[in-house]
Amino acid sequence: MASHGDRSEDAVVSQPQDRPISTIVIIIAMQTEALPLVNKLQLTEDLEPVFPKGVPWVRYHGAYKDLNINLIWPGKDLALGVDSIGTVSASLVTYASIEALKPDLIINAGTAGGFKAKGAAVGDVFVASDCAFHDRRIPIPVFDMYGVGLRQAYSTPNLVKELNLKVGKLSTGDSLDMSSQDEASIVANDATIKDMEGAAVAYVADLLKVPTIFVKAVTDIVDGEKPTADEFLQNLAAVTAALDQAVTQVIDFINGKCLSEL
Ligand code: SAH
Repeated sequence: MASHGDRSEDAVVSQPQDRPISTIVIIIAMQTEALPLVNKLQLTEDLEPVFPKGVPWVRYHGAYKDLNINLIWPGKDLALGVDSIGTVSASLVTYASIEALKPDLIINAGTAGGFKAKGAAVGDVFVASDCAFHDRRIPIPVFDMYGVGLRQAYSTPNLVKELNLKVGKLSTGDSLDMSSQDEASIVANDATIKDMEGAAVAYVADLLKVPTIFVKAVTDIVDGEKPTADEFLQNLAAVTAALDQAVTQVIDFINGKCLSEL
C-alpha cells in the first residue's frame, strides 16, 4: 500500500532534466560518416546485438568520459549492399534504439544539402532548430499539416553559443535530388538545410518523448551550380571530418551536464 512516505520519496526523485546526461544514442545513416567517429570515440561493435536477428543495423558502443555512448548505423541494405539511408530505416533504428537503450538524449548526425540563399556554405555545421518533411504532400485539411510533420528539436542555446554552430531549419525527404514540388515545400518549411533522415528521427523521438538534437554538415549547395550527387561525393570525406569534429565537441560539451543546461 502506498504511504505518504512513498509519495514524498517520489517527489525528490530527480527529473531527467536535472541529472547529468548518461546514455546517448547517436544515429548516423552512412558508414563513411560513422566510422571516423567510431574510431575517435574508441567505440566497439556490439557482440551481443540488441536488435532483432538478421537486420543490418549496427551498434557501436563504449564509455566516453562520463557518458555511455551508442552509435547506431542502419547498416548496408541486405539486397544491394549500399548504406540504408532515408526515412524508413532511420525511423526503425530510432524506435529500436530507444526501446533497447532508453537514451537520455539522441543525436542525429549526418551530412546535408544547404541553401546558399539561406546562408549555408559547404563545410558549415548546423544544429537544426526544427525538422519537417518536404515530400509528403496531402492536400486535404489537417492531413496537409500531418504530412509536413513539423517537430522541434530539443533547444540547446548554450551548446550552439559555446561551439559557435549555425542554427537553421531542416527539411527531410527521401530523395537526394530536388523536384520543383519538393523545392516549393522546402521554401514553405523555411529550411536552410535538407537531408533524408532528420524529420523521421524527430517523429519517433517525439512519440517516445526522447529529447533529440540534429547536427548536420553541409556537403553540397542545393541552389548552386553543381549537380548535387557530384558535389556530395566530392566533398563527403572533407565534410565528414568537420562533422566528426563537431559531434565530438558536442559530446564533450554534453559530458557532465543536465539536459536543462544544454
Ligand atoms: N551516392 C551517395 C548517396 C548518399 S545520399 C553515396 O552512397 O555515397 C545522401 C545522404 O547524405 C543522406 O543520408 C542524406 O541525409 C545526406 N544528404 C547530403 N546531401 C543531401 C541533399 N542535398 N539532399 C538530401 N540529403 C542529403
